[in-house]
Amino acid sequence: MKRILMIATGGTIASRPSANGLTPQLGAAELLAMVPGIAAFCRVETLQLMNIDSTNMSQDCWLRLAACIEEHYAQYDGFVVTHGTDTMAYTAAALSYLIQGSTKPIMLTGSQRSIWLQDTDARMNLQDAFRAAADSSLPGVFIVFDGKVICGTRARKMRTKSMNAFSSIDWPEAALLREGRILHLMKDEEKGHLQFYRKLNKNVFVLRLIPGMDPAILPKLACHYDALVIESFGVGGLPCYENENFLSALKVWTDAGKPVVITTQVPHEGSDLGVYEVGLRAAELPGVLQAYTMTIEAVVTKLMWLLACTGEPDEIRRLFYQPIAHDLLRFEEPEN
Ligand code: ASP
Repeated sequence: MKRILMIATGGTIASRPSANGLTPQLGAAELLAMVPGIAAFCRVETLQLMNIDSTNMSQDCWLRLAACIEEHYAQYDGFVVTHGTDTMAYTAAALSYLIQGSTKPIMLTGSQRSIWLQDTDARMNLQDAFRAAADSSLPGVFIVFDGKVICGTRARKMRTKSMNAFSSIDWPEAALLREGRILHLMKDEEKGHLQFYRKLNKNVFVLRLIPGMDPAILPKLACHYDALVIESFGVGGLPCYENENFLSALKVWTDAGKPVVITTQVPHEGSDLGVYEVGLRAAELPGVLQAYTMTIEAVVTKLMWLLACTGEPDEIRRLFYQPIAHDLLRFEEPEN
């Protein structure tokens, strides 16, 4: 029988009402007791790593989570991480960079409604997560939610209230779960070697463009941050107003060797800076990268991971465009 470690971190799944609103209060063992049926296919041990609303997740929490999985990696066949839904996609992406080449399933799950409520999605999600964590043909980091197994670098929370909260962005789901059975949709061909990373650089800023934005903000941000992600419009481009030029304002970043990544506010199909003049001009600046179909969660956490590995611009570029855990399609890698 498969041995699974359940690591609880909090979230709605573990919440109860308090005088100040819902807060995580249930412990890992209490959650596990709600899904007795899983004893038929796996043996579970529990570990309460933290008990927080995932709004309070931080880089430090991600490092603790990855370190906890590293410490117990050899003793278990798979891992289930219970987590709030609000930042679960960021945590899944961060773990995909901090734990590369895992041959074991690492399944994140949570719920939109607390586990003690009658109409909760928590029991099904938890049961499904254990089912997936006990399936050795699903190696790596995934989110299991509403019957879907979504690649950790491709998940996005799309709904604040409905049970089908998560979608897989521009990448097929790895599997579906129906009545306790797994239907595999994707075979993972990528086999790297197992590597845990223990550092992140949290100095990454995301700037969402609005029409008419003053580029004077760009040099100011460069004083505090090591990487900038610009959520641009459509397939991507940077504005050039009469006297206000984003490209010259970005020089502080590019001269300092700090990466600037252009992505899009549009949820699907990613960037392509090669289409319009406003995009091509930006793409020609050294140090400017583009996200293609990488999600914002993946872009941000990949930068945090790679900036902790290197500060060298060529290496930053190489690592950014190296596909990891299906974050980037192979044909999107630019030729050098
Ligand atoms: N605020 C909660 C959290 O992210 C929401 C949830 O879990 O659904 O922890």
